[in-house]
Amino acid sequence: MQPHSKEQGTHHRLYRFRFYPTKEQAEQLARTFGACRWVYNEGLALRSGAWERHRVHVGFAETCRALTGWKRVEESAWLAEVSSTVLQQSLRHLDQAYQRFFKRQGRYPARKKKGRSRDAAVYVRTGFTWVEDAERPGTGLIRLAKQSEPLDIRWSRALPAGTVPVRLTVTRDRAGRHFVSTLVEERMVPLPAVFVPGSREPKAVGLDLGLASLVTLDDGTKVDHPRLMRRYAEKLARLQRELHKKVRGSRNRDKVRQRIARLHALISDVRRDLLDKLTTRLVRENQVLVVEDLSVVNLVRAARGRGRQRKAKLNQLISDAGWGELLRMLRYKCEWYGRTLVIVDRFFPSTRRCSACHAKGPSRDVSVRGWVCAECGAVHDRDVNAAVNVRDEGMRLYWLVAAGLPPGRKAPTLIRASDLEACSAAA
Ligand SMILES: [Zn+2]
Repeated sequence: MQPHSKEQGTHHRLYRFRFYPTKEQAEQLARTFGACRWVYNEGLALRSGAWERHRVHVGFAETCRALTGWKRVEESAWLAEVSSTVLQQSLRHLDQAYQRFFKRQGRYPARKKKGRSRDAAVYVRTGFTWVEDAERPGTGLIRLAKQSEPLDIRWSRALPAGTVPVRLTVTRDRAGRHFVSTLVEERMVPLPAVFVPGSREPKAVGLDLGLASLVTLDDGTKVDHPRLMRRYAEKLARLQRELHKKVRGSRNRDKVRQRIARLHALISDVRRDLLDKLTTRLVRENQVLVVEDLSVVNLVRAARGRGRQRKAKLNQLISDAGWGELLRMLRYKCEWYGRTLVIVDRFFPSTRRCSACHAKGPSRDVSVRGWVCAECGAVHDRDVNAAVNVRDEGMRLYWLVAAGLPPGRKAPTLIRASDLEACSAAA
């Protein structure tokens, strides 16, 4: 699920479902993916060639006209087997890549390579039909252009009531699994604000992202990596060692690579599911959520990575992608539900400071799981202490911003320490 902010209160939201194509559908989709890649690359060649040779700017509209021409030429007449709106979307993607490049937000568009680039095809409203199931609202029949049968979709959940898919993205991952992402327009209603019982203080939670536990909350709750994920990760490590022993270019190597791709897909599914549930719960129960800047986590990780035992390595494998995803989910869920996400500074000493008396202690190796403050004698769990510090620092920043707001104005959905220069002299 990804956010696409539109007008106030409405959001575009993606719901992804797995589907099982018939042999015929799988073949037609394989041709579609190939055609999208081909059209993208031809469009790229046309645009860059026109500029290099003649200093002529070729835009989206011209590439669309060229597409009509390509279909008439015998060598590329096979393009007609693929829905033309899907091919146009491929050219639109190319155009978007160019726009990003012009705004210096991205690199110059690169050719798409089979097996390297993601297999994807985008169907706009005219490229598919949707018939809602009267018995199970939010699910239904989806039939893609140029296909006779509807897709066999596993509706792992229903689409929100009253919504209609406005765009579909059909993908095939490296493990050969097919997915359809349906983009729907939704009205998000902010949740009622949550306060600390008996006060007007917004309820806040501090998160410490770590290796021993995936997330530690300031109330002492620890969220561990699911056991299933650890098992997958161990298997993955074993397969990767196996891969190195296989001869390059051999069939066996290919087989191992396939299994690795499938495991990666499984791991990311389990992780996404876990993070989705965790972030929804945290956003429902709290008004302000505080995390450290991700770069701090990375720094810590680099230091921790040196010579650590295998278990830490496994956790790291799982955590790496997870932290970015966690932050991303918190960001858009806070926006949807009217919560505030505070990102504290990267130089904030969350693990060294005593959360009881604020004395700054020595830096401690990650193997030290607990310690006693030399100043006040408080006994700390390393991660819980860090989470409390993160929450306190986040609330300091929150009040700094909230105090400057006109009465009745709600706090922003994102407060970032690096944007508030005046208050970086913390602790
Ligand atoms: Zn202390």
